[in-house]
Amino acid sequence: MTEARSIHVRGIVQGVGFRPLVFRLAHANSLAGWVLNESGGVDIHIEGDEPDLDAFLRELTLQPPAAARIADIDIQPSEVSGLREFTIRESRRNGHPSVRISPDLPVCEECLRELFNPADSRYLYPYINCTNCGPRYSIVERLPYDRSNTTMKDWALDALCATQYRNPIDRRFHAQPAACPACGPGYFLEFDGEAVNRDAASINATIRLLAEGRIVAVKGIGGYHLTCDAQNMEAVRALRERKYRKEKPFALMVKDLATAHRVVELSTEAEALLTSTARPIVLAPAKVALPGVAPQNAEFGVMLPYAPLHYLLFAAGAPGILVATSANRSSEPIAYKDDDARERLAGIADAFLIGERPIARRVDDSVARAGPFGPVILRRSRGYAPGAVTILPSKRPILAVGADLKNTITLVVDDQAFVSQHIGDLEHYESLESFRSTIQDLVFMYEVDWDDLLIVHDAHPQYASTSHALELPSARALAVQHHRAHIASVLAERQAWDKCVVGVSFDGTGFGDDGTIWGGEFFTGSLAGGLKRVLHLRSASLPGGDAAARNPVQCAAGFLCQLHTSVDFTEPPFYFDNRYGRSVEFLRKNVRSFETTSMGRLFDVVAALLGFTREITFEGQAAMWLEQIAQRASNRDAYRFPINGEELDFRPLLDGVIDDCLRDRSKTEIARAFHTTIAQSLSCAATTLCEANGLDTVVLSGGVFQNELLLETVKSLLNGKPICIWTNSAVPPNDGGISLGQAALGAIALRGECHA
Ligand code: ZN
Ligand code: FE
Repeated sequence: MTEARSIHVRGIVQGVGFRPLVFRLAHANSLAGWVLNESGGVDIHIEGDEPDLDAFLRELTLQPPAAARIADIDIQPSEVSGLREFTIRESRRNGHPSVRISPDLPVCEECLRELFNPADSRYLYPYINCTNCGPRYSIVERLPYDRSNTTMKDWALDALCATQYRNPIDRRFHAQPAACPACGPGYFLEFDGEAVNRDAASINATIRLLAEGRIVAVKGIGGYHLTCDAQNMEAVRALRERKYRKEKPFALMVKDLATAHRVVELSTEAEALLTSTARPIVLAPAKVALPGVAPQNAEFGVMLPYAPLHYLLFAAGAPGILVATSANRSSEPIAYKDDDARERLAGIADAFLIGERPIARRVDDSVARAGPFGPVILRRSRGYAPGAVTILPSKRPILAVGADLKNTITLVVDDQAFVSQHIGDLEHYESLESFRSTIQDLVFMYEVDWDDLLIVHDAHPQYASTSHALELPSARALAVQHHRAHIASVLAERQAWDKCVVGVSFDGTGFGDDGTIWGGEFFTGSLAGGLKRVLHLRSASLPGGDAAARNPVQCAAGFLCQLHTSVDFTEPPFYFDNRYGRSVEFLRKNVRSFETTSMGRLFDVVAALLGFTREITFEGQAAMWLEQIAQRASNRDAYRFPINGEELDFRPLLDGVIDDCLRDRSKTEIARAFHTTIAQSLSCAATTLCEANGLDTVVLSGGVFQNELLLETVKSLLNGKPICIWTNSAVPPNDGGISLGQAALGAIALRGECHA
């Protein structure tokens, strides 16, 4: 007996070969009907015998296309209309779009085989792609995802590409960026504004330059990389000088997995991350010396090739380990437009390898590592963005604008939370522009009505993101406290709206309820019921305003002045410079100082005591240094770090560190004992709070939890206790995750109003 089903599929289901798969499965199971893309996903109608319908549905859910992510499938019985065959119908537009835009994908195995097959018509063609691979988010200008809405719109398909594009069973059926050497964009190498070589010749010329130790700007998927031979010390040094980048590690792109294994220590989990379709930069312990690549750092950030162009460069003989760092000066956003790159990178790059396909928006490389609780994303960008990370209980659209450091934004449409690519630190004019345009971009693509929008921002009145949020034409705005947003980001990932937890947010900075700077906070409660601050680090004064966050010694002055000690910290073994004296003076006169409970700053203080007395050149540098020296020791002792009322008292802890320094204990051991102390007090306080409130789950989020040693130690201390630990996995534990937490708290606020 013939039956019919009407099926609606949501998720990443457009531009990933979903309709051809449906077409093939329908034919294989002798079903009639149709499939089409619409604004919210894919609609399917099938008719046939019940066992065939069941087989179709089973195969569809068990083996979706490689790049597809099915969020949910709704299956309803339907009227039999007596169709004779199965067809792919025209796309339909209905309502505002809520379909997920696929992140950019690395070139697939099949395309790679064609790329290196001399008989193939796309032999050595750097823009080869198919429905299983290639650019997506970085080329789409508006929805739905059709070629005319991408940066490929100016290239008309030739006969070969058109035939494949229109054939439902071809791998390039509706592959929007489809192109071949005869009809598509090309590559050229440019010196001083002049294109000197094209296509294959430009690849070979690039390789000669890299071999000579030159710096070449290479246009990739979401922006330009600055590349040079990582084993050429002079080249690496020149790149640092020209880029004004003193110490922040450079990312590496290695030829293949075997080279990756030679360069870094890769666990099974790290290898899985490295080869995943997001192709992030993976942080792992260094196995070789590459001077200048990551000064005073025991780790390298390594990625594999992901664009066909990268494979072409390595196959043609590029050095097997390349520095491939975001093309920018200092910490500006990455250059992605050709003219902008020429202008901003003049004086940095010796030459430019430029592809003609425009990039619609900048999408940096993502950064991840295999952590003790599973993969951690430290920068969520290319390969992940703008994927929906979770479902939030809100039918109304929400825009959350994040924090001022490591900014991302989150847009909630039809209960899906889309998190943007990494935007960066908004103190730079260029980043602020990028922040504004990303907001416009996402709101435009999803056709959200500004009047419907709830805007959520940080409670910090001086954040650039806050002032911009308040200027936007929205129905209303909601302020959210920074560390509650950190905890909420984890709860949102788990869709835990009502679950009561202990939330621990150890962080650098964030504006607190009382107007001071928080960052060492314990909360109890839930998303729905609110998170109550129950315990925090003892407060200290930071002299000299924001500069204290960049100067461990300055920061130390504020904490050390609370100790009863006669030690002169400008003397050995401490050697604090005259910045210390000035800071003490500021504190004495009580000018330009503010109160903080920041755990990140406590790490800075201990780093300063152990010898990190210079200014940091990138966020978190002193804490990273401290973690890495601690990794080298294995002692298990800890300092005293008692709880007095609602505060964790750092004074006995610092006294202990200073005593150990004075009696010349090894710095690695002191650093290790400090980590153990923080982990122990966290575990102890969390356990007590769980017991007192009848809870079983501890949530950890905030920048300090990028510290792997701290996480490992907490994990081993709580091992065997009836307590679950929840950390971030879809968004970063640093401020890159704030916008998701804000969106979740916004959704809860709206839900509360509906119930009222
Ligand atoms: Zn492919
Ligand atoms: Fe934070």
